[in-house]
Amino acid sequence: MRCLIVGGGGREHALAWKMAQSPAVESLLIAPGNGGTAAMAAASAGRVQNVPVKDGDIPGLMALVARERIDLVVAGPELPLTLGLADACAAAGVPCFGPVQAAARLEGSKIFAKEAMVDAGVPTAGFAVFDDADAARAHVLAHSVPMVIKADGLAAGKGVVVAKTHEEALEAVDAMLVQHCFGEAGARVLIEDALAGEEASLLALCDGEHVVPLPACQDHKAIYDGDTGPNTGGMGAYSPAPILPDASLQAMCDLAITPIVRLMAQRGTPFKGVLYAGLMFVDGQPFVLEYNVRFGDPECQPLMTRLDCDLPAVLLACCEGRLAPDMLAIRPESALCLVLAAGGYPGSYDTGKAIAGLDAAGTVPGVTVFHAGTRLEHGQVQTSGGRVLGVTALGADLAQARDQAYTAAAHIEFDGKYCRSDIGMKGLRRLGL
Ligand code: ATP
Repeated sequence: MRCLIVGGGGREHALAWKMAQSPAVESLLIAPGNGGTAAMAAASAGRVQNVPVKDGDIPGLMALVARERIDLVVAGPELPLTLGLADACAAAGVPCFGPVQAAARLEGSKIFAKEAMVDAGVPTAGFAVFDDADAARAHVLAHSVPMVIKADGLAAGKGVVVAKTHEEALEAVDAMLVQHCFGEAGARVLIEDALAGEEASLLALCDGEHVVPLPACQDHKAIYDGDTGPNTGGMGAYSPAPILPDASLQAMCDLAITPIVRLMAQRGTPFKGVLYAGLMFVDGQPFVLEYNVRFGDPECQPLMTRLDCDLPAVLLACCEGRLAPDMLAIRPESALCLVLAAGGYPGSYDTGKAIAGLDAAGTVPGVTVFHAGTRLEHGQVQTSGGRVLGVTALGADLAQARDQAYTAAAHIEFDGKYCRSDIGMKGLRRLGL
């Protein structure tokens, strides 16, 4: 099988690492890939290759698919899906793991997702929709804080403001509806009731009809310890997440994911790919905060580490509508991914810093270092983004996975290296450790 992975982050390195383990994969292209997939390519005798085509360049990707006679396209990030990559693949008769544009709106439009949740009976926070600033301001002033203001469209993870005061809420409304700081993506806003509780990620594979849950994960979005400071793309993740034990996965999936998959099928836009529900547990009761239409980054890294089956076979089954629960095998161990970021992230940061210690980190038992913002320059790995590496460890339990990941991370050096010191602690506390 000739496969193409679209994207260039830690998630895509983890997908490439798992895909490359399959004997069915004759060649594996990553567009555009990163320094980690470049290192895989260098060691692969031509089987793995980075290709300099951007993830949002649909014509460029389709030209690559045709030229390389690709048999399976795997979309990493949401951007190509919201731009219609799966539709273009369908037109070309090539299986694509990821939903068509009409189903990718579950992530591309928060209002579309909320309305789908209401239609499908999925529990979610109360909300109202506005495109008029005066009406939005009146709503803010008539309701108590905290409240959450969300830009409708994709805003690179910056379109959500949890406002603690009316002033903050009014500022967010002004930024989105008057100053148009997110352009079209903020032309409509959601104003949502704020929920207080613990978050978890539930991801499930879908083939348009059948839904198979993956083990639960927990992400760490804030930059600093104790979940403080600005939100990031994610500073670490682990799986399983004690807040959502394996025994409750199916029931949670039936509540948060299957109704949406049924709704999309009824609407004639079946969802194929991985559907990710961002959950908030309020006094034990789950609410869906949002949907993503792809693997989470960094949740994908621990998930790929725990996956114990042939990934391309499972992804192809999703594309072809023949997904079955027994296709999935998961290792019983725990996995934890610790993100090493560039100093200053999620604000401005330097790039081009040499990274040392990768080989030593890789010798720690159970550890795989997935690259995110890196590039390979003249044989040397350098930083090229805010989230640089995802040091991922498989251990007998969460405590061991955490120890191994931190031990490995201590071997890695680059100017400005930053990581949180409490990744996994929430899970350990819940386990009473
Ligand atoms: P990402 O790009 O990281 O997936 P996003 O920009 O799509 O995020 P959401 O996931 O909807 O936006 O929200 C980001 C964060 O804001 C959530 O993880 C959660 O911490 C907080 N949040 C969102 N909705 C609510 C809510 N109703 N109540 C409290 N907090 C919320």
